[in-house]
Amino acid sequence: MDQSLRWGLIGASTIAREWVIDAIRAQPGNEVLTVLSTDAKRGAEFARSHRIASSTTDLRSLLGDPNVQAVYVSTTNELHKQQTLAAAAAGKHVLCEKPLAMNLTDARDMVAACASAGVVLATNHHLRNAATHRRIRELIRSGAIGKPLFGRVFHAVYLPPHLQGWRLHNPEAGGGVILDITCHDADTLRFLLDAEVLEAVALSQQAELASGQLEDGVMAVLRFDNGVLAQLHDAFTVKHAGTGLEMHGTEGSIVARNVMTQRPIGDILLRNAGGETSVPVEHENLYVRALQAFNAAVAGRGQPSASGEDGVRSLAVALAVQEAARTGKRVTVQYQ
Ligand code: NDP
Repeated sequence: MDQSLRWGLIGASTIAREWVIDAIRAQPGNEVLTVLSTDAKRGAEFARSHRIASSTTDLRSLLGDPNVQAVYVSTTNELHKQQTLAAAAAGKHVLCEKPLAMNLTDARDMVAACASAGVVLATNHHLRNAATHRRIRELIRSGAIGKPLFGRVFHAVYLPPHLQGWRLHNPEAGGGVILDITCHDADTLRFLLDAEVLEAVALSQQAELASGQLEDGVMAVLRFDNGVLAQLHDAFTVKHAGTGLEMHGTEGSIVARNVMTQRPIGDILLRNAGGETSVPVEHENLYVRALQAFNAAVAGRGQPSASGEDGVRSLAVALAVQEAARTGKRVTVQYQ
């Protein structure tokens, strides 16, 4: 039986507006009761335009509302930790945006706080929910490409003008393409391969959009604990590349196009001794699926699509890529 879940939004954000409010409302019995913004006028306008009953600028009052059972944290990255700790202390389940935090210690504290409060913590790594990636995972697990040897992720996109703010100019808010996109690549590859990243090398670029110390492009190579090497290309500055992901193994290759995206789209080709086959995929909304798994986890049925621990581990990889790019050195991923 589906249980109802009443939500408070922490952050009047674009991602809430574009995807997550609808995904919450797509779950039977789920409703959004209130939204927190630091700006009373923006919060009220956000609430009005999304048919949310109330808005507040006071985190304590949102968390003190006994009707709110779960919160969606989608503020800028430096705020995730403090807001998640406060939510856990108030006994609210937490769906938190990625990167979970700005550093590993903070992310680990969030996981520990939610565990000791007995609330669910999920990280909104949406790509695991894509029908394409779930199909690729099945193909790999069924041996369709033999032993996986190499992965290649094509995630160089153009940051839309309405998002050209803190991601490009504010390191204190966790800007830069590595924290924004590389952590998604890391999470997706960890999911596809059922493996963890051991080490990273990387070079980054500041081309035309980012300022200060922030990068707007990066190329990295990761080594996984099953031996796989994966190459990543992430950017905010590339208009026409298209996205994709490839997996190459001893017996075959998977070539997926348009799969590093928020939208339920993309195609998969499998090439092996039998020739080239188009793999059928039944697309579904990634965020709706994430919210389904979150609801089930709250009801005691299984884990969220990406747990708090997944958020920690995928962040750890992004931090290693960041350090590798800054130092020019090969960096061992630190998970503790
Ligand atoms: P936004 O810039 O849209 O929102 C972040 C904060 O900026 C909001 O909480 C809000 O503060 C403030 N803000 C929003 N609009 C305005 C405005 N017009 N003027 C001034 N301030 C404004 O960020 P995103 O939605 O792009 O990202 C939020 C989080 O979600 C990040 O952690 C990001 O990494 C993650 N994200 C995840 C995605 C995914 O698919 N998993 C995709 C996109 C982002 P306030 O709340 O105080 O009003």
